[in-house]
Order: sequence, then C-alpha cells, then structure tokens
Amino acid sequence: MPTRGDRHLLAMQHAKQLAALGARLKTIHVMTGMPPRQVQSLFFPDAHTIPRGRAPDSAEWYHGANLILRTDACLIGAKFHQLRSHGLTAVEALILAYRTYQSVTQPPYRISLDRAFNLISYIDGIWLASAPTLTVLTCPGCGCEFIAAVGTIIHPGEPCPFCKLLERFHVDHRIQASYPRRPVIDMTARQLGMLALFHKLSPGAEGDNPAE
Ligand SMILES: [Zn+2]
Repeated sequence: MPTRGDRHLLAMQHAKQLAALGARLKTIHVMTGMPPRQVQSLFFPDAHTIPRGRAPDSAEWYHGANLILRTDACLIGAKFHQLRSHGLTAVEALILAYRTYQSVTQPPYRISLDRAFNLISYIDGIWLASAPTLTVLTCPGCGCEFIAAVGTIIHPGEPCPFCKLLERFHVDHRIQASYPRRPVIDMTARQLGMLALFHKLSPGAEGDNPAE
C-alpha cells in the first residue's frame, strides 16, 4: 500500500512534469490535488512564467475545429485511451499521451496541455466533466482511433479525421507541414498509419522517467 508520503511525492512529481509541459496552475491543482499557491511557489519561482490567458473551456471546441486540430486531438485521445486500457492512471496517461503527441509534431504545439486536459476530462468523465460526452472509436475504414461524441454511430464508408487527412495529404501543403514525420502518414502505409505509430509506443517508451 502506498503511504501518504508516497502519494505526496507522486503528486509533486506529476505537478513538476505538468508545469514543464505548460499546464496552468488550476489544471495542475485539479490533476494532482496540490494547492495552486504551493504549485506556484515550487515550480514557478518567476511569476512571469505562469501560463496566463483564458483556459480552454467547452469540449464543443473539438466538433468545430479544423481537420489538423481534430487530428491532433485524436492523437492525444487515442494514446490516452490506449494507456488507460493498460492500467495507467488518468494523470499518468495524459502526461505520456501529451509527450507522445509532442514527439510527432513540432513546436509551437497546436494543442496545449490545458486543451488536452479539457478533452480528456470529457472522454473519461473526470476532472472538469461529471460524465463522458466524448468517446474514442475505431474507424472501420483505416483502423485508426478517433474522438467522437458519445452515442455516435459509425456508418460504413464515412471517413474519420485520419481518413480525411490521408486523402488530402498529398495535395495539401499545410497538412504536410503539420506532420513532418511524413512516412507515418502515407497512402501506401495506410494500415501502418498513425495507429501503428501510437500503438508501438508502449508506456515508458517515451522516457517517462520518474526521476525527472
Ligand atoms: Zn479512418
């Protein structure tokens, strides 16, 4: 059984990792239970480095976002879903899913840690959400996992965000620039696609070093 001390150390460790990923004080507070003032004094000694501005709110954002943003969100959502099914806690799964997302795109990252936190809340029905309103489904066309509203019925032949991305990849320079690891998204490697990339990264493979 973990002691109170173990749990406290783990919360500190998570808070440090979240702060390094750009999370807001409130996000860190909700995810770790650590008081925002304590988080600030420990990890943001310079007040100017505290992330400011309006925190992402509703999960409706996903449905209105452009294809690249939705694909980014799906990368995080799918990885989170996979890690949760492997038994990781929601906090661990979000940190690792977000790092995985960063490893396949380039800064500045289009999805902030706070946005990922918001999305995950609505997928798991935790933190900001009292019940799940988003879910992770598997596309019958390309095999990739994508985020959809709870209750969504997949119709055969209906493209998911990854199907659309793959279709447009060769003609859309913005998409090509957005996903520099091009071989991953290639029509010839459709079945390997994003899914393979994200599934081959097992928990810990990202260098999720607890000593960080
Ligand atoms: Zn698809």
